[in-house]
Parts: sequence; structure tokens; C-alpha cells
Amino acid sequence: MSTGLITHDEYLLHDNGPLHPERPQRLRAIWSTLVETGLWPRMAYYKPRPATAEQIAWVHEPEYIDHVRAVADEGGGSLDPDTHICPASYRIARLSAGGALVAVEAVLEGEVDNALVLTRPPGHHARPSRGMGFCLFNNIALSARAAQQRGIERVFILDWDVHHGNGTQEAFYEDPNVFFCSLHQVNWYPFSGAEDERGAGAGEGATLNLPLRPGRRDADYLQLLDEIVAPAVRAFSPELILVSAGQDTHERDPLGQMRVTNSGFGQMTRRVLDWAAEFCQGRVVACLEGGYDLEGLAGGVANIAGALLGDAEPTEPTGDLADHRGQKPENLPDIDGEDDVPHGW
Ligand SMILES: [Zn+2]
Repeated sequence: MSTGLITHDEYLLHDNGPLHPERPQRLRAIWSTLVETGLWPRMAYYKPRPATAEQIAWVHEPEYIDHVRAVADEGGGSLDPDTHICPASYRIARLSAGGALVAVEAVLEGEVDNALVLTRPPGHHARPSRGMGFCLFNNIALSARAAQQRGIERVFILDWDVHHGNGTQEAFYEDPNVFFCSLHQVNWYPFSGAEDERGAGAGEGATLNLPLRPGRRDADYLQLLDEIVAPAVRAFSPELILVSAGQDTHERDPLGQMRVTNSGFGQMTRRVLDWAAEFCQGRVVACLEGGYDLEGLAGGVANIAGALLGDAEPTEPTGDLADHRGQKPENLPDIDGEDDVPHGW
């Protein structure tokens, strides 16, 4: 299988402050591990382009987009105690969303079978009218809208981040053509995602929330995917599957209480690939969301990458992350300019 990789060192420029868990080192740890395991050169690299304000408006209200830009232009600020905007954040958040759009484009054009989007800031808590929970613009929701713009009728979003993807749910709550399924820790930030939140209006039944008790392990997640999510996928028959891949379900993560292992992320990814092979020509785009233990995050992402590439065996990172934390995988190309760059939509 061929896998696209979208990432860039400009994603390091979004700065939440020195003590914040959503920090640039997250990407450095992933890059180091992808290089050390030999996964990096097996993927086809795509340079992200910033999403335009018009594209961001597919999901977000113009007043909110203007607000993020204004706060960044004025030197920075905060949307809430967890969610910060630095002077570069408006541009980098558009580049984060744009990375997901490039991935959808590459997959739908058939250039690659699937794609892995390694960007920050993350997106799944970003509501149409307001960012929150470390998220400014909703990368995965924008990807679904982008796919619809390209003629895809049914998009299935699976969100396995330990936190409920409330922003994504809100964006599609009344949309019957985007199925949102979230597995998340019950009674945990952002305290939404109850089982009875199932969509509304025409979208009723196209939202599936599976709140989980703490301590769930690989086998618990796989059983839920097989017994509850797979039938939902079959009934919906998607043309594209998007994954909000948050690795804060990892057993090492400080912001979640789940017990998923490195290889568990690979196994979950293989389930998604099986569904995609059955319904949508293998088309899968996985976007990074949370994941705050550097070793757990990098190990989980390495196993997602291995699975996307078709590896049957788990990837076992062996390197010492501390030795590689400053390493860049290669000379990543410059982003062209800072203004809105039109996509080929
Ligand atoms: Zn999370």
C-alpha cells in the first residue's frame, strides 16, 4: 500500500507556552521515531499548504476566524485557560487544517492509498463558533467538507482520542452524510459525548458515541470496533474514512486513563483499513489529535504508520527519544509565502 505523509517544521511555531502539554516536542518525538524505525522514507511526503479563510469557513463562523486572526495579529492571547494563540498561530492553524486538506486531495486523486497527517494545533475540540481544548480550527471536520466539495457523498469519521470530539460532532450533528463515531473516556473533558447524543434532524442516527470506563485495553477497543462500530460502518457504506487519531488513549498518557499499547494503535488502524478496503477502495486519512506522553505518542503513531503501509507486524521503536529529540528528519521544503494560497478544489 502507498501512504502519504503530511507534516512540516513550521508546525513547531504554534506556541502554547513552556509548561503546556500540547508542545512542539510532540512532533519532534514522532519524527525521530519514524526515522529511527525506517518508516519515514517509505511514505510519500506532501508539503502542506495553508487553508484559506474561505476554506476554514466551510466549518467555522467568519466572526470566529476573524477573532483568531485579530488575537494573533495583536501579539497573542487565549481562547480559554487551555487554548492559546501566539502571533504565528493563525497562520499555523490554517497550515494544520491545510495539511489535512492536502491529504484528502492526494487520497481522492488516487496518488496514494491512504495518508497520515502529523500537524498541530490539533482540531477535534474546535467548535464552529469557538476553539477550545488546545484546538483552533477543526482539521478533520474541514477534511470531511473538502471531500464533499470533491463529490464524495458519505464520509465516516472515527475518533479514538481519549477526549470526546465535541467540535466535530457539532459540525455534523444534523448532517446525514458525515457519520461521526467517538470512543472516549466517560466523564472526562469536555464532558460531552453521552450515548444518547445520536444526531438530530436529518442527521439523527449518524452520530455514535461510545463513552468508556477508564482502564480499557487493546482488546476492549478492538471488541467495540468489531461488534458496534463495524456494523455502523457497513450500514453507512462510506466513500472515505477519516480518523481523528489521538494517542492520549495510550497507557503512558498523562491526560487519559486508558491502557492502549503501541501495537493496539496498529491493530485499530488495521480494522479501519479492512473497512476501507470493503467500502471505499482503501481510502483512509488519519489525522493527529492528542497524545501527550512523547514516547507513547511516538510509539502509537509509528504503529499507525506501519499499519497504513501494510505491515502485518507491530513496529517496536528501540531508539532513545532523548537522543533524537532535536532531530529533523530531512530538509523540509519552505512553505510558499504567508498569504492565502488557493487549493486546487
Ligand atoms: Zn485528547
